[in-house]
Amino acid sequence: MITPTLIHLYLTIISVIAFLTSPSVSYECIEPTDSLGIKFERTNCTRNSSAQSKLIVSYGLNTTYEVIPATQTNAFELDFTCDPTIDASKCQKAKQAFIQAGEFLTAVFEFPNTIKVLAEFADLCAIKSCANGIILGSAQPARWLSMIGEDNRTRAYPQTLAKIADETGSLPYVSHDIIASFNSKFDFFLPGDTSIGPTQDDFVATVTHEFVHGLGFASSWRPWMANTVTPFILPLDDVFPKTVTIRETIFDAFFARMADDQCLSNFTDALQVALEGTYDSQAELDNAITAAAANINLTTTVDFVTPQAIGFWPKGAQDAILIETSFPEFVPGSTGSHVDKETYQMTENWLMIFDDIPGKTYQQIISENGGTGIVGSGIRAMLESIGYATSQNPTPFIPTPADEPPPITVTLSRKSKRRQRRRLQ
Ligand SMILES: [Zn+2]
Repeated sequence: MITPTLIHLYLTIISVIAFLTSPSVSYECIEPTDSLGIKFERTNCTRNSSAQSKLIVSYGLNTTYEVIPATQTNAFELDFTCDPTIDASKCQKAKQAFIQAGEFLTAVFEFPNTIKVLAEFADLCAIKSCANGIILGSAQPARWLSMIGEDNRTRAYPQTLAKIADETGSLPYVSHDIIASFNSKFDFFLPGDTSIGPTQDDFVATVTHEFVHGLGFASSWRPWMANTVTPFILPLDDVFPKTVTIRETIFDAFFARMADDQCLSNFTDALQVALEGTYDSQAELDNAITAAAANINLTTTVDFVTPQAIGFWPKGAQDAILIETSFPEFVPGSTGSHVDKETYQMTENWLMIFDDIPGKTYQQIISENGGTGIVGSGIRAMLESIGYATSQNPTPFIPTPADEPPPITVTLSRKSKRRQRRRLQ
């Protein structure tokens, strides 16, 4: 019987051709190597991989997680693990704080999807030394995915925003959108506690702050070696010779230098062009980055350690929101990823200063600082700018997934007009 064989052969050829000609879609993912958010790596975008390895304490442990589901009023679904050495009622109160923080953010932002959070309330000091200051907590996107934005630049977007843009559901995601670690050994003021002590921090405020980081309130700018502050520099190869690519986060897209309104994205573009080529050793790459930074007059090494030197211009705003650049040395995790403490600690935008505000409940801070809630109008505008919808801004720009990151084209841009530096009230 020859006909069936021919049909079979025909189908086989068709399918081979289809296989050979189907585009090989490759995405670019960037992930923290732990939940403190100090180090990042370009990954192979494994689908459905577990984010647990990025938690500080639970890593490698056979931890069980309690699921706290999202509700109508809380878009955040929590996989939660609590320090087994502390009182169960304390774990219960901590859980309430997570729910309250989720409800506050859900009341302000219109999240179309459930936001999955992997959270631990654990003894961080057992893993990370607290000798030089206790770590209260940390949270960040579990994965960033490269997407093409409004200005045609490719940047890293937090997984939450990638999901909003992913109409076909084809992007590769890690198990959770946000990873969060909080220190069970710190004396937090928890929901249900009666009066806050002078050294206690309000846990609802702390969790809300960290959730905002997890939504993408985070900069890629950080020290490369000791001498140059750059966005993510990501090797494209595992071993030398290597080529590198440069990526900002979408948060960085709104940065400009206060002195001359120069958009920091211009430096990112120029750095990418200057670093094209292959490098045979780490020393060669380090030298090339230092030389490229000098050639393009990249002053971010100074700007990021000069108070009030860098501003975030929310979309459509006439005024910059000043970014935290006051530390004499760049402090990864604090510098660049917060609003300026000096300017905003007594305003409605206090939530995203790097420091804690001990001795006050979030209700007290809101009543003293003004504003209508825990999320001030400036913080809301920053999150709207990167892509979250609100009732005031219902249709933010939706980026396109970058399956083949395009070559960088350099178009120098300045903020369209000179804006006055002014404190937001
Ligand atoms: Zn923070």
